[in-house]
Amino acid sequence: MDLKALSALYREMGIVGAGGAGFPTYAKLNNKAETILLNCAECEPLLRLHRQLLKFHAPVIIEAFDKTREVLGASEGIVCIKASYKGAIEAVTALLSKYPKLKIKILPIVYPTGDEVVMIYEATGKVVRPGGLPIEQGVAVFNVETMYNAYYALRGEPLTTKLVTIAGEVKTPMTVRVPIGVSLKELVDFAGGETVEDYIYWTGGPMMGNIEPTFAPVTKTTNSVFVLPADHYLVRRFKSDYTVETARAAASCCQCKMCTDLCPRNNLGHPIEPHKIMLAAACNNFKDTSAFINTFYCSSCGVCELYACPQGLSPRKLIQEVKNALKSNGVTPPKDVETKKVSAIREYRKVPLDRLVSRLAVKKYQTDAPLNNQLIDGFKTVNIPTRMHIGAPCTPVVKFGDRVEKGQLIAKAGEGLSVNIHASIAGLVIGVDDKLITIKAD
Ligand code: SF4
Ligand code: SF4
Repeated sequence: MDLKALSALYREMGIVGAGGAGFPTYAKLNNKAETILLNCAECEPLLRLHRQLLKFHAPVIIEAFDKTREVLGASEGIVCIKASYKGAIEAVTALLSKYPKLKIKILPIVYPTGDEVVMIYEATGKVVRPGGLPIEQGVAVFNVETMYNAYYALRGEPLTTKLVTIAGEVKTPMTVRVPIGVSLKELVDFAGGETVEDYIYWTGGPMMGNIEPTFAPVTKTTNSVFVLPADHYLVRRFKSDYTVETARAAASCCQCKMCTDLCPRNNLGHPIEPHKIMLAAACNNFKDTSAFINTFYCSSCGVCELYACPQGLSPRKLIQEVKNALKSNGVTPPKDVETKKVSAIREYRKVPLDRLVSRLAVKKYQTDAPLNNQLIDGFKTVNIPTRMHIGAPCTPVVKFGDRVEKGQLIAKAGEGLSVNIHASIAGLVIGVDDKLITIKAD
């Protein structure tokens, strides 16, 4: 199989980065890649997907990863695994003699090693320039579940299911495989239901996740649903208002610079300096516009506001607001920004995961969430969004009243960057618009 055929296959089968923003995988296939990385950092606390999937299904994941490497013509593939994921390390090590172009890189137990820019530096020593793409350094990164899905795509099976960790205030934390489009509430009920009365649903990791309505559907990128008490520390921080946070910055930011000192991107030489945006935004000081422009180089990892700041202030929130305002006014990040040297004391500025977990007040939720990779079935309806990836939304190709089979194409990839979407259950189409397709099970 050549690059063009693999690219077309991943697009047709609907393969996207199974987490984060859902970048279409075919668009990462580039024959300039000299090295490809398998990302098993799973650096956000509480998530339990990748380490277990790699531990129990290494043969299929590594086969797809090496096949992708071979088609790209990359000279090496590096499987990046956090040091504490012993089972995954053993499972991959046992296979390496079959794959001479692959090796393992053991990652430190710090946050955010899963950030592509950080991982590329840890694994290869290369620094992706601010605003640049990994491929400019000859690197492409794929996550564990994406390669698991790629294995089945290579056998003609489209993407219709998602692995999700259910944890927090639920009776039985677990990691399960479900059809795309089931509601978060159904997942939580499957895990025995909520154990507190007043709660919210949180998807994604505690550092970069979001509060979602209970009826929100599982998409191609839903890694987790955590039930948290409505008054939990993270919920209060998440809900705090930009105006209030700006006033707090003006009143309390002592310019200690801890936020910048611990910023993982700043430590790699990128020009993001959260302490400067705190001062500039809080004081409406527009004399030096670089503080505002440099917000484009923030990865939103949250270290500055949920770990570094001794005053409990919210640099990330201010940065996000500034970034959004710049974007909506048509400002784009400058090209060819200079990357400074990697900080000589970067090693000492890494954020240990156990300390982060304590700081986030989620230690009690750090429990096992055992994997059940058998598809959970029997859901009555699924609501499948027509956009579960970065890029153009898909166009529905089914209409109200159509009967569909599981795996059937229901929405075709849009123009440009986009991938197909397939039915996750067999049944009757009972709702279609440009945003959502609803299927009622047979
Ligand atoms: S760490 Fe907090 S107090 Fe210190 S400069 Fe940053 S925002 Fe201000
Ligand atoms: S969220 Fe804060 S720590 Fe993370 S990259 Fe942005 S400025 Fe740096």
